[in-house]
Amino acid sequence: MIRVLTAVHPDEAAGIEGVLAEACAAISLQVDVRSDHPPDQADYVVYAPTSGLKDFTPFMRARAVLGYWAGVEKIVGNQSLTQPLCRMIEPGLTEGMIDWVAGHVMRHHLDTDRDVLGQTGAWDYRVPPLARDRTVGILGLGELGRAVADALAGLNFRVLGWSRRAKDLPGIETFAGEAGLAQVLSEAEILVLLLPLTPATDNLMNGDTFGAMPEGAVLLNPGRGELVDDAALLAALDAGQLSHATLDVFRTEPLPSDHPFWADARVTITPHLASATRIKTACAALAENIRRGEAGEPFLGLVDRGAGY
Ligand code: NDP
Repeated sequence: MIRVLTAVHPDEAAGIEGVLAEACAAISLQVDVRSDHPPDQADYVVYAPTSGLKDFTPFMRARAVLGYWAGVEKIVGNQSLTQPLCRMIEPGLTEGMIDWVAGHVMRHHLDTDRDVLGQTGAWDYRVPPLARDRTVGILGLGELGRAVADALAGLNFRVLGWSRRAKDLPGIETFAGEAGLAQVLSEAEILVLLLPLTPATDNLMNGDTFGAMPEGAVLLNPGRGELVDDAALLAALDAGQLSHATLDVFRTEPLPSDHPFWADARVTITPHLASATRIKTACAALAENIRRGEAGEPFLGLVDRGAGY
C-alpha cells in the first residue's frame, strides 16, 4: 500500500483524499491517502503552501513532494526539502488561464468598457479593430504561457513570446535573452506576464521595462505580484506609458484595502482567481506522478531547483 500524505488547506481542496484515492484506483494504484499519516511513513506528500507546512525533514522516506499549486516560489528555496519537488500541471489550471487571459485581452482589444460602461445615447459607430492587427506579448512560454499563446494566435492575434531558453513554436514569434525581451516589449500593445517568481524575474517590470513599451500599452499580470514594481507601474500609468493594468496577483494578498491600486480606475483587480487547480483533473495528474514514482519513470513537472521553477 502506497501512503500519500495530504498537506493542503481544506478550503482549497476539500475532499482531496477521496478524489485522489479514486484517481489512483483508476490506474490500479493501491493508495492510502490521509492527512494524518506519521510523517516518516509517507511515500508521497501532496503539498500546498496554505497548509502551513514548512519542515520537510520528517518525511524521510517520501519519494516526492507533489505541489498542488503551479507556482513553487514559497517552497523551492526550503532547505529542509531534499526530496524531488513537482509542481502542478493539469488541464483545468491551463484552461482556466486561457479563459482569463483571452477575456482580458479581448476587453482591451475591443475596448468593451466603452460599450458596457459608456452608454450615453449617442450612436457612437466605429470600425472595430481586428486581432490580426494587434500584437500581444507574453513573457513566459511554459505550460501556461504556451497554451495562452496558442489560444491567442488561434484568435488571430500576432503573438510574441519570451522565455529563458530559445524555443520554436508554430504560429508564435519567439524570443529569449535581454535583446529578445527588449524586442517583445517594444512591440507589445498588450503584455501578459506568465513568468514564475525567481530572483531573475523579481521586479522585471520596472521603470525601464515599462518605458520600453509602446505608449498606451496594457499590462495583464496573472503571474506573480513581485514581477511588477508597483510604484513604477503607477508612474507608468501617470505618464501615459501604460493605459491600463489588469492585475490578478499582488505582493501582499489579499491586497490591503489602502493600497493605491484599489482607488485607481486605470487598474483592474481580480483576487488571484485567474486560474485555480481543479480537484478532479489535479488528482488525475497527482496519480500519474505517483505511478511514475513507483515505476521509476521521470516525474512530470519536476522543478529545477537551480533555476528556481
Ligand atoms: P512554467 O515553469 O511551465 O513556465 C515558466 C516560463 O517562464 C518558461 O517559459 C520559462 O522559460 C520562463 N522563464 C522563467 N524564468 C525566466 C527568465 N529569467 N527569463 C525569461 N523567461 C523565464 O510555469 P507555468 O507556465 O506553469 O506557470 C507560470 C506562472 O504562472 C507560475 O509560476 C505562477 O507564478 C503563475 N500562476 C498563476 C496563477 C493564477 O491564478 N494567477 C495560476 C497558476 C500559475 P523556459 O521555457 O526557458 O524554461
